[in-house]
Amino acid sequence: YVELHDINKHFKKFHASKNINFSIEKGKLVALLGPSGSGKTTILRMIAGLENPDSGEVIIDGKVVNNIPGSERGIGFVFQNYALFRYMTVFDNIAFGLRVKKTPESKVKERVNELLELINCQGLEKRYPSQLSGGQQQRVAFARALAHNPQILLLDEPFAAIDAKVRLELRTWLRQMITRLNITSIFVTHDQDEAIEVADEIVVTNKGRVEQVGSPQELYKNPATPFVAEFIGNSV
Ligand code: ATP
Repeated sequence: YVELHDINKHFKKFHASKNINFSIEKGKLVALLGPSGSGKTTILRMIAGLENPDSGEVIIDGKVVNNIPGSERGIGFVFQNYALFRYMTVFDNIAFGLRVKKTPESKVKERVNELLELINCQGLEKRYPSQLSGGQQQRVAFARALAHNPQILLLDEPFAAIDAKVRLELRTWLRQMITRLNITSIFVTHDQDEAIEVADEIVVTNKGRVEQVGSPQELYKNPATPFVAEFIGNSV
């Protein structure tokens, strides 16, 4: 459903993505897992249309989207540290993208209420982000990303800024939500346990390359490279 074909990306002379090839089936929850600086976020941003590859193709639902703006790719993006608008209420945060697209206000209200129910945050719509817990903020960021009914959800380190106890709850919650919505989802993490726990498939990145793609069990049982063996093996 999402396919990267021979993708290369440089930042000046720095080769950030090297011959990236992988594909993701519809409805799967996939982790991009690798150490800091291995190129995970760059891959996510190229799928989202926030960066353009120097060569290769980004394919969504069988269509090459390299020349299609991110806003028309049917993607929702949850940024690192939620990035909610601090001076907007929960309601306005979730409504933001719908209003940008000039959705009639009655429809905005209907959709935001539906999403508040989905994330179990009814009654919080008048609060500001600073008046929410980390977990609630992350749920609001999730609702905002889903507002326009994307086909694909991209999440950059969605659990990183949340304390350990809430993180476990949120992982389970996110897993259930994504299964229920049957939305193809890709999240970036440097945490092996998190990837193994949450993802159907893991794409292991190292120094700008993809080392291996497989289910957590496959990576553990049949690591393709010493790097994967060590990186995955150490965590279990
Ligand atoms: P992290 O977990 O630290 O975010 P990552 O695996 O997501 O790491 P990327 O953010 O994709 O890695 O970055 C990969 C490399 O590309 C890094 O060395 C980074 O410094 C470099 N890089 C990323 N974006 C830019 C940019 N806009 N300009 C220059 N270099 C960049």
